[in-house]
Amino acid sequence: MTGFTGAFWRNGDTGFDDAAASRLFNHRRPSRRPAVVLRAAHAADVAAGVRLAAAEGWKVAVRSGGHSWAAWSLREDTLLIDLALFTRMSYDPDSATVAVGPAVRGGLDLDPYLAGYGRFFAVGHAPTVGMGGFLLQGGIGWNCRGWGWAAESIESMDVVTADGELVRCSETDNPDLFWAARGSGPGFFGVVTEFRLRTRPRFRELTQSTYVYPVWLAPEVLNWYHMARHDLPSSVELAAVGCTPPGSGSPVLIVDAVSFDGGPVSLAALGTCPVAGKALTANVAQQVDFADLQAAQLRSSPEYHRYFADNAFLAGSASELVPALVPAFTDLPTPKTFTVLGDFTPLLCRRPPDMSLSVQTDLYFAAYVIGETPEEDAWCRSWLDAAMERVAPYSAGCYLGDSDLTVRPDRVMSDAAWSEFQRIRTARDPEGRFPGYLGAPVQ
Ligand SMILES: Cc1cc2nc3c(=O)[nH]c(=O)nc-3n(C[C@H](O)[C@H](O)[C@H](O)COP(=O)(O)OP(=O)(O)OC[C@H]3O[C@@H](n4cnc5c(N)ncnc54)[C@H](O)[C@@H]3O)c2cc1C
Repeated sequence: MTGFTGAFWRNGDTGFDDAAASRLFNHRRPSRRPAVVLRAAHAADVAAGVRLAAAEGWKVAVRSGGHSWAAWSLREDTLLIDLALFTRMSYDPDSATVAVGPAVRGGLDLDPYLAGYGRFFAVGHAPTVGMGGFLLQGGIGWNCRGWGWAAESIESMDVVTADGELVRCSETDNPDLFWAARGSGPGFFGVVTEFRLRTRPRFRELTQSTYVYPVWLAPEVLNWYHMARHDLPSSVELAAVGCTPPGSGSPVLIVDAVSFDGGPVSLAALGTCPVAGKALTANVAQQVDFADLQAAQLRSSPEYHRYFADNAFLAGSASELVPALVPAFTDLPTPKTFTVLGDFTPLLCRRPPDMSLSVQTDLYFAAYVIGETPEEDAWCRSWLDAAMERVAPYSAGCYLGDSDLTVRPDRVMSDAAWSEFQRIRTARDPEGRFPGYLGAPVQ
């Protein structure tokens, strides 16, 4: 007897293995297992779960959407609180805020819901990503480059603390908890049961320009990109992507930009690449549907695959960075692997928000190595390790959302933010009920 409304499994019970691991996106799954799984039905279950963990001497792990590449929610000797049932959404037209449960999927659930009200929230690119982990890590949502981190639009959240109390936190209520929650991701020491998010008016139309280059032009294109990215306005999301188009057998380098103000003029800088005339294809300033953009994301990150991801915020001149980056765009280890060089120039031109998320530069490199069988794992791992080793000298730190600190530790907060985070954590979770990062960040 557990007294929970939701379901509860001990290790060894029928259904335990499914409950522990079946909702994980990455099919390269670690052998770590919790002691028990609680699929909570409501916040009172979560609070009771945290108190039970204290009584039994377990730590508490949390799962919302199950999309962390490194399966952060699987920890030994924990009570795993699975928030799969926390999918409530409720829009308040007076405040233009939306309340969302942490297992709501940004693109599949929240976006169509908000579209019905003519509103938008910058959800994660792949529509299946859960809001819980996405928001706590900061959240690189659509046009993060111009609109900022998704976590900046959190108005308030409800949190079950390490002592099993349900509290609200915001800029004014429990501000220490609110500060720590926005950026600490899997290091957070509480369970968020609901977020209230500020929404924005839905864009009227989207315009996209896409230039596909042969990879032998990668040095020229990346050199140009390093400068030209500064010329695009903040309404434009911009990335250079290395990938292999299905059926083609050889990689290409794509420079892709989406304008959220609908104006072709905002994309004009893409035509200034000195080798633009040598692009294999160029689709310039075409109108595009958000649904099509999301469908492309779903195709690029297929389910039931074995993923290895890593990333770095880079700082350096083109002459330093381009040689370090080129192989990661020209020589991909598997047909489905893709790499991204994203730009955050407008974000760096403003006063940084006061939250624990505090490591960032204007250039973001991420690699997503996608295998299909365990036999490919060693090759995928070594390719990614080599790619990250080349860029590591220029890394100012990493984004938790695409990291695996057990493999390559990096900085996740500034020194000042890290000290503050530790101070708040000690005060809020003195017994270490929440296990903290899996693998130690560099500080
Ligand atoms: C296909 C794919 C595409 C992605 N695209 C993007 C993208 O565009 N932008 C981006 O920023 N990231 C992206 N990511 C990364 C993703 O945002 C992170 O992996 C994030 O952790 C996923 O959240 P989740 O709730 O689904 O994951 P989970 O694995 O459920 O959560 C990860 C960890 O976060 C913590 N956590 C989650 N929910 C809570 C909660 N309610 N309370 C307390 N702690 C909690 C826990 O420590 C948990 O183990 C992508 C990932 C995938 C697999």
